[in-house]
Amino acid sequence: MTGSAFGSPARRVAVAVGPAVLLLAGLGFAGAMHPGAAVVVAVAAVAGAFWLVRPPPPPDAVAKPLPAPSPATLQAVLEGIPDPLIVLNGAREIIAVNGAASESFGIGSLGRDLALSLRHPEVLAAVETAVAGGSSSTTEITLPAPVPRTFALHVAVLGEENGPGSAPAAAPRVVLVLRDETRAKRAERSRADFVTNASHELRSPLSALIGFIETLRGPASEDVAARERFLTIMQSEAQRMARLVEDLMSLSRVEINEHVLPRHRVGVADVLAAVADALAGRAEKRQMTIRLTCPADLPPVLGEADQLTQVFHNLVDNALKYGRAGTTVEIVAAFVERMPGTPSGALRIAISDAGDGIDTLHLPRLTERFYRADAGRSRRLGGTGLGLAIVKHIVNRHRGQLTISSRIGEGSTFTVFLPALAPPVGDARQGVGGPADVIKP
Ligand code: ADP
Repeated sequence: MTGSAFGSPARRVAVAVGPAVLLLAGLGFAGAMHPGAAVVVAVAAVAGAFWLVRPPPPPDAVAKPLPAPSPATLQAVLEGIPDPLIVLNGAREIIAVNGAASESFGIGSLGRDLALSLRHPEVLAAVETAVAGGSSSTTEITLPAPVPRTFALHVAVLGEENGPGSAPAAAPRVVLVLRDETRAKRAERSRADFVTNASHELRSPLSALIGFIETLRGPASEDVAARERFLTIMQSEAQRMARLVEDLMSLSRVEINEHVLPRHRVGVADVLAAVADALAGRAEKRQMTIRLTCPADLPPVLGEADQLTQVFHNLVDNALKYGRAGTTVEIVAAFVERMPGTPSGALRIAISDAGDGIDTLHLPRLTERFYRADAGRSRRLGGTGLGLAIVKHIVNRHRGQLTISSRIGEGSTFTVFLPALAPPVGDARQGVGGPADVIKP
């Protein structure tokens, strides 16, 4: 409820002044007192009446308007928003960003055209529309480098009350908020892929198992020798299915997190030593040896130890699978001044086998899921066709590179580059990025 019990200001004045005038008239004209004294009494009566009918004090919020936030407070508010946020003026120049935006899009300084940091046709089109006085919009965009990322882009128009084009060019005009939806999208696609690939790859061992079960219950039910033979095959088919499911699960886990940079300090020398140890038994079965050459002062990398172990485990395991019996698998690690195509120092880890080699034709596709240069041989050796796909995704997540070189009849070398955290203190460095005849799958 607003206003006093006495209503509008005019009525309040009337209520206050009325009795005083009557009192003045009554007392003065009746001669009960000196007219001067009557005036003093009347003035006092008016003042008292005004005090009695004064309007209620306004609420606090009205009495004390909120102070405008300082630029530092506004920046702190922007920093509190976890999604990348960019504020532009009417000339499409960046006038404010939060930390998430500078980190995601490498925005180092203000006052530059948005297109220099975020050159994407749909982003620029949405901003153009907004600057020209259009409406706010939400679009889905995919940014290609370094790892494709999908964002929901929301473009909000500021200062519409000024009318299109009337705000000064330097004033805040548009706010961009980009919500990273890569993880959700990957999960969606990964689930769909999992169903397709798994059902396709699992179908043949499953049919084999069903066939053998039917035979064992029917024609071969009394044949002890056949039963033993069939059970051995059934066991290996079931193990193949288990390996497939395990690899598919690990690929899907790696893919979902591929855009998240690992944050742990990992000593690659220890990882390589552990992998060589773990696979020594398997090498022995094929009369093969694993030789590890690794400088003591190899710098660490930013990584996830479990995933890096999986990378080198898969590569050394392949070298043992596809290398000739009785040969040596070489693991050679070194620091290089430049990762190929970059100015940054890196670790180069090369795994070489003396096997039959791979035709150059296959090299670019070798890391695709279920791509096999020789499908029959891979299956005979218990391969799932997923090992190199897992390697590739983990290396991508670590912002590294994988290169493959191979010569028919001589063998293959799989080389992993990982960004180094610091150059070595000693003499482990080698200036070269890698061999010339390599293919990046
Ligand atoms: P698989 O489980 O079939 O070994 P991978 O993804 O690990 O699957 O490898 C894909 C294909 O690449 C293999 O099927 C094989 O044809 C080829 N390959 C991988 N490593 C080697 C190697 N060291 N020597 C020869 N061929 C290899």
